Amino acid sequence: MSSANLTAPQFTDETAAREHLEALRWPNGVFCAHCGSFDGITKMQGKSHRPGLWNCNACRKPFSVTIGTVYERSHIPLHKWLLATHLMASSKKGISAHQLHRLLGITYKSAWFMAHRIREAMDDNNTAPMGGNGGTVEADETYIGTKTAHTKGQGTGHKHAVVTLVERNGRARSFKVDKVTARDIVPIVRANVDKDAKLMTDEARHYWQVGTEFAEHGRVAHKRGEYGRGDVHTNTVEGFYSIFKRGMKGVYQHCSERHL
Ligand SMILES: [Zn+2]
Repeated sequence: MSSANLTAPQFTDETAAREHLEALRWPNGVFCAHCGSFDGITKMQGKSHRPGLWNCNACRKPFSVTIGTVYERSHIPLHKWLLATHLMASSKKGISAHQLHRLLGITYKSAWFMAHRIREAMDDNNTAPMGGNGGTVEADETYIGTKTAHTKGQGTGHKHAVVTLVERNGRARSFKVDKVTARDIVPIVRANVDKDAKLMTDEARHYWQVGTEFAEHGRVAHKRGEYGRGDVHTNTVEGFYSIFKRGMKGVYQHCSERHL
């Protein structure tokens, strides 16, 4: 699955791990983990701050790349978390806390805790609509398979169209669709997104009508080169695809295989 081998820097060095995760989670630039704002984000410099802290001008709260993830608030170094995730996601038969304990050089108790948290993240038992209580859900599409969207020329290849819904700071669901059209996408959005949610999409036409059924519909004009305005953006779902396609594919396959 993944090309990353076990000696890759993100598995052996804490700073490299953080930068790796930042690059995956924020491919279009950093956005606030609390309010979702894409504007007015600054890096907190200086020795009094721990590394990897960002500040948001909109809500004035600091955040780091691990907020809202299973890696949040842990004394275990981030590179060990990434390695544990990689091992658990890439091993077909699963991996025990005892194996993690030996491989990562951490206590059995820590290994058990990590395994528990990672497994929980891979398990999508919460089937309630996403974005309830005024939450935000981002929707986007991508193509997965041997032929990428950037491939030139004709031919069908073996790519699958996938629609993904990501709740900011929450769950993600992916669905295989035959075609990226309103007919295929609208029923998925209706069935999985709470009517009280703010829906965020790009300018694609297939979201226009269904978008009116939600508390809010924010649209980003990607074709005009726009990545977002304030909390109107699809950077969470784009980060999800970037993670899916690079480092940690296995984790998300677990999350979404039933839907795929
Ligand atoms: Zn904020």
